[in-house]
Amino acid sequence: MHVLITGGAGFIGSHLASFHISLGDKVHVIDNLSTGRMENILPLLDHPDFIFNEADILTWDGLEKAVWWADRIYHLAAVVGVFRVLQEPISVLATNIAGCERLLRALHNSRWETKLIIASTSEVYGNRGENELLHEEMELLISPGINSRWNYSISKLADEAFGLSYARQYGMDITLIRFFNVIGPNQTGKYGMVVPRFIKQALNNEPITVFGDGKQQRAFLDIRDALVYLDRIAHNPQSKGEVVNVGTNHEISIGKLALMVKNTAKSLSEIIHIPYEEAYGKDFEEIYHRKPDLTKLMRLTDFQPQWDLERTLEDLIMHKQQKEY
Ligand code: NAD
Repeated sequence: MHVLITGGAGFIGSHLASFHISLGDKVHVIDNLSTGRMENILPLLDHPDFIFNEADILTWDGLEKAVWWADRIYHLAAVVGVFRVLQEPISVLATNIAGCERLLRALHNSRWETKLIIASTSEVYGNRGENELLHEEMELLISPGINSRWNYSISKLADEAFGLSYARQYGMDITLIRFFNVIGPNQTGKYGMVVPRFIKQALNNEPITVFGDGKQQRAFLDIRDALVYLDRIAHNPQSKGEVVNVGTNHEISIGKLALMVKNTAKSLSEIIHIPYEEAYGKDFEEIYHRKPDLTKLMRLTDFQPQWDLERTLEDLIMHKQQKEY
């Protein structure tokens, strides 16, 4: 199979690239290396079935040809991470919406039977109450204009609307994935991702910085499970034209996560709290709960996650230690 991955030098994309190479597929990655890194794909660069183009999805003149070549496309290229989203509110909208639309137009001019997986996000659900299971067909609660944090959700919702419209109007094989928090090696803490940030602080015995009161809850999916989900979704014809949550619903508070990272890393760090305003600037609006309804995911994949958070953190800490020493 021929697999095209936009944003393939990033965290999820680099794992997808290795996964498909290990299956004997040919993989073409395009990435502008804005948040992605060459070191993520370094082990693949000499592989005869791997092609890499450093290029921007908005302007790359090889897009039509690459789309024509592909049997499966993962569209992951996007401006991501809370820090970047707050600092670059216009580029979030412009890159994420125009990039996706350009890809859809290229696919429309190509072979419609190619499978396209578009990355969306759990952030489209907005701020929800405790114990509220987030299911794909529910109404969404976004507050545009209040804070540029929501520009990310708006951009991904626009991508969903574009993707679904192409799927419905032309019968193209497109699936929208609402990722909840995915974690694993190659993820950087630089742009606001909490787990790599905590691990780095713990291993350096620096203060572990929890933003706000630490009561905000998240559920973390190991990348190894995410890869299985994505591949099974792509293989299942019933995923065509669907929006699908991909995550777990084992929530943990960020305060408890900090303690878990500290203990697993046997760190001497203290855990300190930083007000949101100091971390993100004025008017930041936190999302307190994000618990996915996984009914559709289970129906499409028939797969239960194999890695719990304790095990994932142990592996990540070991991986980081081996890389540094
Ligand atoms: P990432 O930042 O590691 O990957 C995104 C990649 O896109 C980067 O390599 C970046 O350099 C590239 N990119 C950005 N703009 C580009 C452009 N204009 N042209 C070409 N490449 C460009 O982030 P990730 O965590 O791997 O996320 C992948 C996708 O999944 C993103 O679309 C993100 O919105 C979505 N997502 C991820 C999570 C998660 O938990 N990791 C959660 C929700 C949604």
